[in-house]
Amino acid sequence: MAASSPIINTASDTPTILPRSAHSLSRSQIDENTLKVLYRLHRHGHLAYLVGGSVRDLLLGRAPKDFDIGTDATPQQVKKLFRNCFLVGRRFRLAHIRFGRDQVIEVATFRRHPHPDEFPEDPAEHKFFVQNQFGTPREDAFRRDFTINALFYNIADFSIVDHVGGLKDLENRQLRVIGDPQVRFAEDPVRMMRALEFRARLNFSLDANMLEGITKQAPLLADASPARVREKLMQFFRHGVAADVLQRSQSLALLQPMMGGYQAGETTFKLLEPLNQHFKKTGTVDEAMILAALFIDRFWQKCPVQASLPINEVMHTAGHLLTPYCAYFRLAHGLRHQARELLVGCYRFARGLGHRGQKRFLHNSATPRAFEMFRLWIQASDGDSALVDIWQKALHTDHKPSDQPARQPNHRTHRRPRRRRRSKPAHV
Ligand code: ATP
Ligand code: MG
Repeated sequence: MAASSPIINTASDTPTILPRSAHSLSRSQIDENTLKVLYRLHRHGHLAYLVGGSVRDLLLGRAPKDFDIGTDATPQQVKKLFRNCFLVGRRFRLAHIRFGRDQVIEVATFRRHPHPDEFPEDPAEHKFFVQNQFGTPREDAFRRDFTINALFYNIADFSIVDHVGGLKDLENRQLRVIGDPQVRFAEDPVRMMRALEFRARLNFSLDANMLEGITKQAPLLADASPARVREKLMQFFRHGVAADVLQRSQSLALLQPMMGGYQAGETTFKLLEPLNQHFKKTGTVDEAMILAALFIDRFWQKCPVQASLPINEVMHTAGHLLTPYCAYFRLAHGLRHQARELLVGCYRFARGLGHRGQKRFLHNSATPRAFEMFRLWIQASDGDSALVDIWQKALHTDHKPSDQPARQPNHRTHRRPRRRRRSKPAHV
């Protein structure tokens, strides 16, 4: 695995250096505290580079999500320079420099890919060993994923340092893996998800080599850590690219290994698009809504409204549908419960007004969220929008938010213990 990582000829290859006059990245675009850290490292004789996504984004005229720093100072040396510095990671020591309550600037020492004969005998140690080898800036650039993510901004002379051809790819709006895509995807299958994410976020194209690499290595994503994949999935939603990325993943046979065998339905991607817009508007990502949206197509297949199923049965079916996915990603029971309630809520909305329990349903504090889900689904599936209007009116007149203080607790609707219906003996 490590033997086929990008080979670097450090002796003869020199980077492309773009002087300040030849690029658009200005210090005024860099966060003030990040600049302070860069300058302090530099003043103490260390190399201090802005690295990763922030350089890429600033050169593209976009606002970076965060600013990361690369240096040749060891984590211990960084700690000595900053009172507000904490070393983090079990064996992989990263320096976190804190500013105020909310800001953390990550400073990482340049690293390299170890040579194959350096690896410890115990394969369990490999991961930490790979992460812990300090290297030169050039070696550090080559261990990164895509050429556009390996550009450095040098605080010493404000130049851009490019070891991997990232500037040209940035100009051509091309996402390219550093080294052989098949090898790099086998090293870390989550890079395939990152490729589709950046394609969508930046509106870049993927070369044929990359597409071939994804097609060949897609099954490996099934071995990636579900927790890491889940975090990435949430990131797709935070960036508003989930519909695009997941649809593209499906066409490249990446979706099933990525999501524990999950199969999307006909309107799934159409629904994810407005859901993404909804999150953008509300400023939050609601994982229960995502779960419900992912399964609503299959839910309707199993619980068609025309069949007039009893709500208990609908609830049971919805729960059953969600279980394998929730187990794969080890989602909390509460999340599965919320997603199930959203699906059942949609069912109640879809069958129309006038059913038993309607008043209680309208008063339930979870109902407006289910209504939002229903509204988005009707929109995505070209459903009956008159139904949305009818329920909107009913909610408007009947829904009392549960946090209104003036009301006495209503025991009939809130706490009344359900009388269990005695089930029929099995032999009848
Ligand atoms: P953004 O933060 O905007 O999502 P980013 O490129 O900064 O994009 P991060 O996840 O913050 O992404 O990672 C920072 C940098 O670390 C990347 O730009 C890349 O150089 C490197 N990197 C991250 N993940 C990987 C990976 N799986 N393999 C190789 N390099 C990686
Ligand atoms: Mg980043």
